[in-house]
Amino acid sequence: MIAKILLVDDESPFVEALSKRLTMRELQVSIALSGPEALEKLEQNPSIDVVVLDVKMPGMDGIETLKAIKARYPLIEVIMLTGHATVESAIDGMKDGALDYLMKPCDLDVLMAKVREAKNKKAAQEAKIAEARAMNIYHRRGD
Ligand SMILES: [Mg+2]
Repeated sequence: MIAKILLVDDESPFVEALSKRLTMRELQVSIALSGPEALEKLEQNPSIDVVVLDVKMPGMDGIETLKAIKARYPLIEVIMLTGHATVESAIDGMKDGALDYLMKPCDLDVLMAKVREAKNKKAAQEAKIAEARAMNIYHRRGD
């Protein structure tokens, strides 16, 4: 398994099909059909590495969901998924902490490359934090 991902999109046939294809590519995939459901899934499974998030969803949209995810789980990487109509929102999402955005329908290889990049970025940040913690302990002991 290369990464744990959460797919969030209000179109259930789309998420289910994509989930199957990504599972065959060694990803551990969870799915959510709305922003609130995505937050619930993350609460149940905070070790998720990457969220692939639809911009246009009824109720809580992708941008609101992105902000809520980043406020609670700053290290989780988010890739926005968008149609032509909402490209500008997807790009705006990068100001709110999204790693990147992809146009629907997205090429599976491109998505996999982005997921890998996201997972590597998260792992590097986690390693840096662990290292900083270890250094603090070292310096405190040395005082
Ligand atoms: Mg949608």
